[in-house]
Amino acid sequence: MQKVDYFRPETIEEALELLAAGREEYKILAGGTDLVLHLRERKVSPKALVDITHISALRGIREEQGKIIIKAATTFTEVATSSIVLEKIPALADACKVVGSPQIRNQGTIGGNIVNASPAADSVPALVLFDGVAKLKSKRGTREILLTELLKGAGKTAIEPDELLEEVILTPYPGSVSGFYKLGRRNALAISRISGAVELVFAGSKIEKARVALGSVAPNPFRAAELEQFLSGREFNEETKEELIVLAKKLVADKLGSRASAPYKREAIAGVMREILNLIEQRRGR
Ligand SMILES: Cc1cc2nc3c(=O)[nH]c(=O)nc-3n(C[C@H](O)[C@H](O)[C@H](O)COP(=O)(O)OP(=O)(O)OC[C@H]3O[C@@H](n4cnc5c(N)ncnc54)[C@H](O)[C@@H]3O)c2cc1C
Repeated sequence: MQKVDYFRPETIEEALELLAAGREEYKILAGGTDLVLHLRERKVSPKALVDITHISALRGIREEQGKIIIKAATTFTEVATSSIVLEKIPALADACKVVGSPQIRNQGTIGGNIVNASPAADSVPALVLFDGVAKLKSKRGTREILLTELLKGAGKTAIEPDELLEEVILTPYPGSVSGFYKLGRRNALAISRISGAVELVFAGSKIEKARVALGSVAPNPFRAAELEQFLSGREFNEETKEELIVLAKKLVADKLGSRASAPYKREAIAGVMREILNLIEQRRGR
């Protein structure tokens, strides 16, 4: 690994000063579970690393007027065990619980998972599900951008080199029930081969509102508007579930076209959807 300078700011303002001074040559280090591999493989060669893990203002989860705000340097373990997340947005807890190993979950952060922009990033379908908005800060100011607009393809984002992702803001539907499921190559340490997240609001036996997001199907996780429209207003019964699965298979096949993974993923999405709907059924009964 090449020699790099290392800074450990304790406030967001200090970090922003460093990023502004370093221009494109400084890189943010959070848990390092992606970045250290990239440094070793010489995919990136920054002059300095700005370690944000000692900035207490970048950790934690809070609820404010129906929105859930997750600070960027919060680890997967912290998210997966948060009572707010478990109660209000359980799909995100499901996603964070199945990331890598316990060591990776203790070290890896939500912010790093977003900015790394992998098609298979586990937390991202669940963040996109709840209309996730990224709050970005730099010495030039603050801006908010939808995650679906921030992510610009595999490994690409609209974040400028002097910007820090401060937090992600989620807006679940009041009273909703949600779930996430991923199918990996192996159970432990599996990088997701296909994943999905669903949020439903019920009115009696009917689905009043629905959100659906898929992962590992396109360059970035995305919202499946056609599946959401189909579900809204339907009875929550076996017929609806089976019809949803047919539509989901078609969507996955259309997205993947002639890719080698298409036949596998087209079938696998059926299992993923069934698992999520079962989770929602169990949670709804509580
Ligand atoms: C063995 C192993 C298993 C894994 N399994 C999974 C898995 O199952 N599912 C999964 O989704 N991922 C998995 N990963 C990938 C990785 O753990 C996650 O992507 C993790 O969330 C990255 O977060 P981090 O804090 O370690 O980020 P880092 O590696 O520190 O940073 C990643 C990138 O994000 C940038 N960055 C970090 N924080 C910020 C911020 N606040 N503002 C701006 N830029 C920022 C960094 O500059 C860097 O470019 C695995 C990795 C390993 C090594």
